[in-house]
Amino acid sequence: MIRLPVVLAAVLAITCSVGKARLPTASAEGQASESTGSRTQLVLLGTGTPNADPDRSGSALAIVVNGQAYLVDCGPGIVRRAAAAHRAGVEALAVEKLTHVFITHLHSDHTLGYPDLIFTPWVLDRETPLEAYGPPGLAEMTRHILEAYEQDIRVRIDGLEQANTTGYKVNVHEISPGMIYQDQNVRVTAFPVRHGSWPHAYGLRFDTADRSIVVSGDTVPLASLVEQAKGCDVLVHEVYSEAGYKRRPPKWQRYHAGSHTSTTELARIAQQIQPKLLVLTHQLFWGSTPEQLVAEIARSYDGEVRCGSDLDVY
Ligand SMILES: [Zn+2]
Ligand SMILES: [Zn+2]
Repeated sequence: MIRLPVVLAAVLAITCSVGKARLPTASAEGQASESTGSRTQLVLLGTGTPNADPDRSGSALAIVVNGQAYLVDCGPGIVRRAAAAHRAGVEALAVEKLTHVFITHLHSDHTLGYPDLIFTPWVLDRETPLEAYGPPGLAEMTRHILEAYEQDIRVRIDGLEQANTTGYKVNVHEISPGMIYQDQNVRVTAFPVRHGSWPHAYGLRFDTADRSIVVSGDTVPLASLVEQAKGCDVLVHEVYSEAGYKRRPPKWQRYHAGSHTSTTELARIAQQIQPKLLVLTHQLFWGSTPEQLVAEIARSYDGEVRCGSDLDVY
């Protein structure tokens, strides 16, 4: 019960010295923003993979600017992790305030929480439709989800709950490379990445008044990502353990080499990008520890690296 705020506080303490933006304490977000000029927070909601690790929810994070959360991906567990972050003091992650999501690709470990994100905030009185940005295919997926839950929608609206008639709706925006979103808080740019046989997979760059944050999505190492991310404040990148990879069967080695990024490869591209902070997520450990993962990268990269965990705030 008391673990979550402690985790957040610990991470805040560790990361306050990293990067140019000083982080506000989770419980005094607004005040600290005023005094430090730092308004943008990165909150990891799920650092997991398809592996059902009980300590790592499915892929999801939030970039929080001026009280608005911009979610990236919606793996299983996203809504409850957002609720945990809200309980720990991140006001923008109150469930009914979850209104914007950017989806990197349609793999199930990044989208199984999509129905949860559509319906749970609505059941908890969100009136605003969800704004969902993602690759071609997202509109069709959304239509199927709404059809699958047709009875639930009808019963909640027409029954004694008298739910509102707007909050379960989704405005889908299928994206292509380039600037995909802009408002008073943030500009979001999508760039194509290479991930197995997916025809459309994206990395995302968020530029706010005080920070630039690049999220790799799932990808092999790419020169184009280096270009997009050069000199950013925070690079959030997927990774797998080089040592763990050697323990995998040949079939899976082939898959991972064509879909993901090893610690050695990530060290090389981080060396080129020189982010102020590198945050590892979607980690495939295969028996390695978080410390070993960071050590594998530190062999050929001397910048700041953090092995991300759910509910970390940077
Ligand atoms: Zn994934
Ligand atoms: Zn994937």
